[in-house]
Amino acid sequence: MKPHTTDLEVPAGLPLEVAQEVKKFLSRRNLLATVGVAAAAGALTMVSYRDDAQAATTPKAMTASKGAKAAEHAWCMVIDLRHCDGCEVCTQSCQQRHGLREEQTWIKVFGMTDSAGGTYHMPRPCMMCEDPPCVYVCPVGANIRTDEGLVLVDDNACVGSRACMAACPYEARYFNWTDPLPLNRMPMPATPQMPVPQKGTVGKCVFCADRLPQGELPACVAGCPMGVLYIGDLVTDVAVNGPGNTVVLSQFLRDNDAVRFKEELGTNPRVYYILGHGQNIGDQA
Ligand code: SF4
Repeated sequence: MKPHTTDLEVPAGLPLEVAQEVKKFLSRRNLLATVGVAAAAGALTMVSYRDDAQAATTPKAMTASKGAKAAEHAWCMVIDLRHCDGCEVCTQSCQQRHGLREEQTWIKVFGMTDSAGGTYHMPRPCMMCEDPPCVYVCPVGANIRTDEGLVLVDDNACVGSRACMAACPYEARYFNWTDPLPLNRMPMPATPQMPVPQKGTVGKCVFCADRLPQGELPACVAGCPMGVLYIGDLVTDVAVNGPGNTVVLSQFLRDNDAVRFKEELGTNPRVYYILGHGQNIGDQA
């Protein structure tokens, strides 16, 4: 994936202190983009699950300090690129459920080139980073990282500074330039788990956090006709991509040499990719 250039400016009208914070973190984005370029040039933007098994199976959410109650779940996603045909039904299912416009691709399918010059497809949701730069840079603390590892946005607190967009190395956040589309759903109040993207705020993939406690699949996972996407739980060590298709997560990752995208940036993403022959996840077609 190409690192994007910094085209964002500090929004007008912010208090001086906030504007300085935003400026500082927009500069940081340049640094992240530079690191991305260096990594892509080195054609090694992945670390195998096997090599990193110890770290990957003990995420911070699972290493609770003494006396603290351990979280019941540690949500993650597995994306099996061997079966993705680029149909983008995941994107459409997500947009339909969340009332998103066409350009708001909370899960986006990128066209990629492999080491042999062939092409393949790579869906990219929010990586639900364990060390999420988007959360650290928000000048008003509008982001939440739940005990179960979900990074969510509180629309009521978001002031639209877009510092989080600048800080995210996965381009996984979207500014809401317009009012939300009318939603065909029960008139429940918006929550960070099931947001209604408000004009002037930033939105992103939420792993359909409102569905997970009910044991329901995220819209993208349920919609994928190829069984590419799995929702997983590092605590119970299970992942599922549809009714009746459950795998032992750690074994599935290990057996298939799963990797994480831009691992070298230290964000500790909770999305694991299974690659086909000759693929690397560094070059966008
Ligand atoms: Fe934040 Fe981007 Fe990581 Fe998602 S992928 S948690 S938006 S830094």
